[in-house]
Amino acid sequence: MSTEASAPARLAAEPPLVGVLALQGDFEAHERMLGAIGVRTRQVRVPADLDGLDALVLPGGESTVMSLGVAREGLAEPLRALAAAGLPMFGTCAGMIMLDREHLGILDVVAERNAFGRQLHSFEASFELDGVPGGPVHAIFIRAPWIREHGPAVSVLASVDGHPVAVRQGLVLALSFHPELTGEDRLHRFFLSLAGLLPEPAKED
Ligand code: GLN
Repeated sequence: MSTEASAPARLAAEPPLVGVLALQGDFEAHERMLGAIGVRTRQVRVPADLDGLDALVLPGGESTVMSLGVAREGLAEPLRALAAAGLPMFGTCAGMIMLDREHLGILDVVAERNAFGRQLHSFEASFELDGVPGGPVHAIFIRAPWIREHGPAVSVLASVDGHPVAVRQGLVLALSFHPELTGEDRLHRFFLSLAGLLPEPAKED
């Protein structure tokens, strides 16, 4: 069986509940985008906030500060347990770093911090992202990481200058850039779709 299958589509009386890690960073922009798509959101600061979630977003920001918050609140073990139990997770920028081998260890990658940032504090690029219909994705990178190494279970969905910037491992999706800042919701819909929380996007012929 492919590990890349989406979760089964979910039929429920009320919209799915997506947690957004809210220790630091641009969690409110993710909440606005998810709310506009029509899912419920909850800010996650302590382990009890994880109860009953259908998915979790780890936003961009500053991974050092986020790591301290995760340690202070005792979130690392509950997050690892939920990932092992199959909770879909979506990490963007610092959120990608939080998921890597050297932090939570949920995604079998090593993220190189501030990888693009020595040349460019921030930049924008457009590229095709595997599985996302509708043409090139416009991406904003801010002191962004790239993936330096990854294990065999990880699929690379997009690269910039030969460096992976979008990866997936089962129901975990991680991006080097900030899809919550571009005003288009295709990446959030892509995540919700692979999490089984939205209908699959229509296939292009
Ligand atoms: N460079 C930041 C870090 O190491 C991430 C930047 C971002 O999330 N925009 O955490």
